[in-house]
Amino acid sequence: MRKIKISESTEEIVVGNIFCIGRNYAEHAKEMQSDVPVNPMIFLKPSSSIISDGDKIIFPKISKLLHHEVELVVAIGKTAKHIPANQAKNHILGYAVGLDMTLRDLQNEAKKQGAPWTVAKGFTTSAPVSEIILAEKIKNPHDLTITCKVNGVIRQNGSTSEMIFKIDKLIEYISSIFTLEAGDLIFTGTPAGVGEVKPGDIVEAELIGYTKISHPVIAA
Ligand code: MG
Repeated sequence: MRKIKISESTEEIVVGNIFCIGRNYAEHAKEMQSDVPVNPMIFLKPSSSIISDGDKIIFPKISKLLHHEVELVVAIGKTAKHIPANQAKNHILGYAVGLDMTLRDLQNEAKKQGAPWTVAKGFTTSAPVSEIILAEKIKNPHDLTITCKVNGVIRQNGSTSEMIFKIDKLIEYISSIFTLEAGDLIFTGTPAGVGEVKPGDIVEAELIGYTKISHPVIAA
């Protein structure tokens, strides 16, 4: 059972399902030489993949290429199925910054074989997530800047205004298939600039003006 703190509060949430969206920024789809999808592309991470600020990212032995992907994370506060886009707001507890750590070599191999991405995306420590900023503190979730630095050097700097499928549409689409439960997280996709990290590196992700996380990478 993984818990995440709520900012400026003593409360925590217990993380349930982790829904992740692939290719939700056009420039990132281009850098991966992928087409922009017609519907949001969904994959899952196990809740045991969550780690918190300061925890180590463990680079598993099965891979030779670990990539960072900084993402805005939406925390769900109210359980429902079939949530219309215009009601989506009522189901959001808050927002966080997260890293969708990816074993890119294994993901590329899985893509070639038409196999699932579960190993490439869901290994233990693959989901660093910050504290949750309550939704009422954020005026417009599509006017936020998310950044990723490796050893202090900026690698990704994206605006959530550039998402292809906006948060209300993601909630509508995901909840048309799955029950979205209180405690579930949605990783909303990464902007361009993904790249490699190695053991000994420090990866930082920031939701500018709100919160950040920092994680050392170590070999398994
Ligand atoms: Mg991602």
